[in-house]
Amino acid sequence: MAKLIDGKLISSQIKDELKNKIENEGISATLAVIQVGNDPASTVYVGNKKKACEYIGIGSKSFELGDNTTEDELLALIDRLNDDEMINGILVQLPLPSHIDEKKIINRISPLKDVDGFHPWSVGNLCIGQEGFVSCTPAGIIELLKRSDIKIEGKECVVIGRSNIVGKPMALLLLANNGTVTVCHSKTKNLKDICKRADILVAAVGKPKMINSEYIKEGATVIDVGIHRMDDGKLCGDVDFDDVSPHAGAITPVPGGVGPMTIAMLMVNCVQAATRKER
Ligand code: NDP
Repeated sequence: MAKLIDGKLISSQIKDELKNKIENEGISATLAVIQVGNDPASTVYVGNKKKACEYIGIGSKSFELGDNTTEDELLALIDRLNDDEMINGILVQLPLPSHIDEKKIINRISPLKDVDGFHPWSVGNLCIGQEGFVSCTPAGIIELLKRSDIKIEGKECVVIGRSNIVGKPMALLLLANNGTVTVCHSKTKNLKDICKRADILVAAVGKPKMINSEYIKEGATVIDVGIHRMDDGKLCGDVDFDDVSPHAGAITPVPGGVGPMTIAMLMVNCVQAATRKER
């Protein structure tokens, strides 16, 4: 049976480390959290982010904007926050209503306050191995691997998914850690054969329980990024946990695997934003 990689535990360790750092070093940080509309899932995510801020001792300032907020109004708010010295990080909860161009909004956030790591500057820095903010979910996965003593160097790593927020930065981070990386997507041929080569398999495909034991090499580390709410109200991932875990060496559960790490790494980025500014 696979070793369970406990994201809940590791994320609380990271939050406790940050809480101590903030207390010991007297770091003062404030995150601006913008939500447009009242999508229930977004409201839960935003609430969890604010709770994490409170726990580690950083301030959060909420901007809850109506569904009918225009793109220009949102851009103007971001301009104000970019100029506000009291604000260290700016987070715009996605998705945005369809009349607002997400790309335009992300690009307007100052790269110095881009705690989600979505700005092209942040992505460019990651690509060329320069310091910068890294997208929280893939950064969290690297922490999960490191803190579970799973070596990346020299390993065959396969990432299923090439989104800008998960798949692509995940591949870049595994590469930066000396993994040999293959990225798969919806047009990939022989997906199962490629996945079966993986020592480390990251599933960010967005399809409930798609990855079963036929995709898994015996003893592989399996990281499940997917989150789906099933008809019975329970959560599941992109990986069929019950089928895969007897074959994997280590595996993340859903819930309690990658999900909690995303918020922990957002907190890491907020502290980084505050200390960078103080330098
Ligand atoms: P996207 O929908 O943006 O990307 C999915 C990727 O999977 C695409 O690159 C797509 O290929 C590829 N894909 C789709 N179907 C197949 C297939 N049959 N075979 C191979 N590849 C396929 O999703 P995200 O990257 O944003 O998220 C992925 C999952 O992770 C979702 O379930 C999401 O809810 C979850 N998530 C979880 C987070 C967390 O904190 N735990 C954070 C972010 C996301 P193509 O590019 O060709 O279309």
